Amino acid sequence: MNDNLHQLRCFGCGARIRGAEAQPDFRCAACGELFEVEYPGWEQRKGPDRPNAGALKWLWRERRCSSEAVDHSGVWRFRELLPILESFGNAVTLREGNTPLYPLTRNARALGMDQLFAKHQGMNPTGSFKDTGMTAALSVAKERGFEWVACASTGNTSAAMAAYAARAGLRSLVLIPEGKIAWGKLSQAMDYGAVTCQLNTDFDGCLRLLTEIVRQSPIYLLNSVNPYRLEGQKTPAIEIAEAFDWMVPDHVIVPGGNLGNSSALGKGFKEMHELGLIARMPRISVIQAEGANPLSRFFRAHRGAAFEPVEAHTRATAIRIGNPASWRKAARVIEETGGWCLDVTEAEIAIAKAEIGAEGLGCEPASAVTLAGLKKLRANGRVAASESTVLVLTGHTLKDADYTIDFHRGTLLNDQEKSGREAEIEKLRRNAVVVDATPAAVLSALKEQAG
Ligand SMILES: *Cc1c(COP(=O)(O)O)cnc(C)c1O
Repeated sequence: MNDNLHQLRCFGCGARIRGAEAQPDFRCAACGELFEVEYPGWEQRKGPDRPNAGALKWLWRERRCSSEAVDHSGVWRFRELLPILESFGNAVTLREGNTPLYPLTRNARALGMDQLFAKHQGMNPTGSFKDTGMTAALSVAKERGFEWVACASTGNTSAAMAAYAARAGLRSLVLIPEGKIAWGKLSQAMDYGAVTCQLNTDFDGCLRLLTEIVRQSPIYLLNSVNPYRLEGQKTPAIEIAEAFDWMVPDHVIVPGGNLGNSSALGKGFKEMHELGLIARMPRISVIQAEGANPLSRFFRAHRGAAFEPVEAHTRATAIRIGNPASWRKAARVIEETGGWCLDVTEAEIAIAKAEIGAEGLGCEPASAVTLAGLKKLRANGRVAASESTVLVLTGHTLKDADYTIDFHRGTLLNDQEKSGREAEIEKLRRNAVVVDATPAAVLSALKEQAG
């Protein structure tokens, strides 16, 4: 069976190449920009390769009852929208996707909103949305006969890559910035058997170095410059649309690091729109940390200003990226959908994370920028009370338990970072207390904290 119907199109100069012709660093040989996957068969309105919207909705629902592994995957269940493999029998899957969409009732009430939801991508097999992209790109690596795969990572990409590589019987190499990633993530890469190198540089430096390495040896690059990652990462958009019975929400908000995920979700919604699966696009907004905000600066600057990388600083390590590879793609998504790009402070991130935790969900600090950003958008009147909004929670709370513990112990933020928000922070803090092993002592501690 030949399921492969795709080609690659340069996002800069528009050059088209076959998938197998891509350079090892996935940059266009002519102009240096990134590629995106496109499906020529979708263009002819009545062509045999153009998916039929009604039939697909039915087929995708049927697959939920199937006993096949590829049908259980929340990525490959939608495989008609990502025909990137020679054969879907080659898909390497950990049953990723199919993540829950939770109502955020208390946060909605606090914001005066009717419909606020969290699409929790932290509920993936390795605890972040990176699994949805990794199943796609790693399956391509396996199909093309690579023995080694590699990524530079702020942590979650390496955790996902190492797991999928191990499942496929491939070897994996991880480059991470020394001391700047969360232990939970590093432990996963070790657990799944990756060769892990901690380098004395930041994420951007790791990616630069790896780009040189893959040009010199036959190692398959699995960072989000790899366009197949984005094909997997667009499937949460399909899940969101399906969950809303194909009546998409008004607004989807995503954290922005290397900006692959926002680009992918935009691509997902756009393709569904073009194929007639949905009648309109949601607004897509991207939120960055104040200390790692090159895209937000770009949008704030005057039209025509150049994109300027920054040196990134934030405790939300998953978005500690100063020179995001996919900024052009993400900028286009924001512009085309009428979304916004803004940044939030360390205190705003910490408060929002505690508020998501208090709803019984929890997430990584990087994921909490979505709620922090929404609060700003509500405060300045850009988002109306009636707008249905989905926050994409990108990672699981256990990924960075140190952050949570530091917050509740009161050691996360310095005085300057806390300034003006002290009362809000104190109200959310739930530090573990040491008490005598007697009922009276425990009951008195209870009284104190309940007050
Ligand atoms: C990777 C990651 C991000 C950033 O996604 P990009 O595609 O790099 O913009 C945000 N949150 C978490 C938890 C991540 O793992």
